[in-house]
Amino acid sequence: MKTFQVDEQGFYGDFGGAYIPEILHRCVEELRTNYLKVLDTTSFQSEYAQLLRDYVGRPSPLYLARRLSERYGCKIYLKREDLNHTGAHKINNAIGQVLLARRMGKTHVIAETGAGQHGVATATVCALMNMPCTVFMGKTDVERQHVNVEKMKMLGAEVRPVTCGNMTLKDATNEAIRYWCCHPEDTYYVIGSTVGPHPYPDMVARLQSVISEEIRRQLLEHEGREYPDYLMACVGGGSNAAGTIYHYIDDARVQIVLAEAGGKGVDSGMSAATIQLGRLGIIHGAKTLVMQDDDGQIEEPYSVSAGLDYPGIGPMHANLARQKRALVLAVNDDEAVRAAYELTRLEGIIPALESAHALGALEKMSFRSDDVVVLTVSGRGDKDITTYLEWNRQ
Ligand SMILES: *Cc1c(COP(=O)(O)O)cnc(C)c1O
Repeated sequence: MKTFQVDEQGFYGDFGGAYIPEILHRCVEELRTNYLKVLDTTSFQSEYAQLLRDYVGRPSPLYLARRLSERYGCKIYLKREDLNHTGAHKINNAIGQVLLARRMGKTHVIAETGAGQHGVATATVCALMNMPCTVFMGKTDVERQHVNVEKMKMLGAEVRPVTCGNMTLKDATNEAIRYWCCHPEDTYYVIGSTVGPHPYPDMVARLQSVISEEIRRQLLEHEGREYPDYLMACVGGGSNAAGTIYHYIDDARVQIVLAEAGGKGVDSGMSAATIQLGRLGIIHGAKTLVMQDDDGQIEEPYSVSAGLDYPGIGPMHANLARQKRALVLAVNDDEAVRAAYELTRLEGIIPALESAHALGALEKMSFRSDDVVVLTVSGRGDKDITTYLEWNRQ
């Protein structure tokens, strides 16, 4: 049977794999040979499930948004990842990977972060599990994301400002990889999305798949059937989307809609719409769509939402788009902000700017009145209030 899941070699169609320097080979190979073995053990599964329940607060509600449904003429359920501890879906992955690190005998955790959300999630879990944690962060981002830096420090993590390149996420990731190369014995590298060399995209998708597992159960309860007509989510690297679609990926009854960040417009030169603008290339160890210039140099993406401006895209999503399994829509800054205000006024829920891109895709769709739509609200908007206020003044 044709599947959209990863194959034995770590590929999704033409995308994925592990294109890594020789010096990293042993680390990635060690991870590849261990991750499924560990994730499948009952000891991992029970500790993971218990933390998701008692620490994160899962299952997250599947909420029928009546006024939003009325506005778009269908039945819209919101999967409320914004209600998780630390305010987004990232904690699901961080807990899983730190548990894995411990079982692999690693004693030091490193992570990269852009906006700081993944850094905070990882630092949170490291505090909980008493693991030393170093977070690499571009110096520009350290200055822009002051509150998250202070949170990470308060949680006991060391934040290392990175001063090469544009001093943003891509540079922080390179620096984290460099550090990992030098400390392969004791260090575990927690990647925050479905990106990087195999097995990371598959591992992160599995750790986020609790989202679609819950959707199945909750839809059955609400609707008497396990599947929706549409699943919608925003994509930066692709982890909340991967979690949302995981158990439905090969179910043709379910249409998948992914919202990427159009920035100021796909053709404006200030965009992060990687699936539309990217060409085949290699970024952080994976073959995927990459925003690059004619010389193959990675281009700096732009989006109002810090969590979506990654110049690559997970290989799973590149393949879903290529095979036309998913509909990919670019949602611009102004459309996302408008959608965030709309959700706030209709439902009393202030979404993260990233999630607002998924909401902004609703007006680009035409639904039938009996369509059941599940849209993942990946995070809460507390961190974005200043941006929302600035836009409202314009
Ligand atoms: C980081 C983040 C994203 C983007 O990352 P994905 O891996 O694409 O999910 C989306 N929403 C929120 C709230 C985030 O913090």
